Amino acid sequence: LKPVVGLTGGIGSGKSTVAQLFAEHGVCCVDADAVAHQLTAVGGAAMAAIRTAFGDAVVTVDGALDRTVMRQRVFTEPAERQRLEAILHPLIRAESLRQLAAAPGPYVLLAVPLLFENPAFQALVQRSLLVDCPEDMQHQRVMARSGLAAEQVAAIIAAQMPRQQRLQLADDVIHNSGGLADLALQVDDKHRYYLACFGLPAP
Ligand code: ATP
Repeated sequence: LKPVVGLTGGIGSGKSTVAQLFAEHGVCCVDADAVAHQLTAVGGAAMAAIRTAFGDAVVTVDGALDRTVMRQRVFTEPAERQRLEAILHPLIRAESLRQLAAAPGPYVLLAVPLLFENPAFQALVQRSLLVDCPEDMQHQRVMARSGLAAEQVAAIIAAQMPRQQRLQLADDVIHNSGGLADLALQVDDKHRYYLACFGLPAP
């Protein structure tokens, strides 16, 4: 397997934007959230086990995971979340590995929003790259994009790992509090750094 860089950051910090900028250098990104969605979509590889464990109530008529029902259930019952994660995490890990192995490019990004909370995913990456910005900026960007209420956005940010803790755990940091041109320059730098770091030829 090629070297893997774990891409992480709080909600709305700019992970997808950073991944797009890496793509311009020919570096691909496997998104663990997208993999989780594929696994729980109609015909997804996790659906049989989920139906067996949780019953028909958490499955839509089409056969996909009913996210609204499931979210409610894991929210009120922490043990249910563990049961769901016990089914999903090994499958997400295996499918992410498969996609990482198939991805072209000198090294690969693995985007995991909760990388530092998940040792099983941390074990897949050689370095962690945090996209960081002040919380008020995260708040503004998510509001502008999603139409969620201000209190909902604040609650999501409050439930995630505190910014200072993430900064302490990260190997590398991209500071996304400036404009997109500044962000692109930082990605250029990090790309050159990773090529050198992994002993790969410069572009
Ligand atoms: P999520 O955690 O919800 O998946 P994310 O970390 O992937 O979010 P993005 O989707 O990249 O974050 O960015 C959130 C929003 O902020 C997007 O609408 C994006 O276009 C915008 N954005 C990100 N970085 C910048 C920037 N430097 N300047 C202006 N807008 C930005």
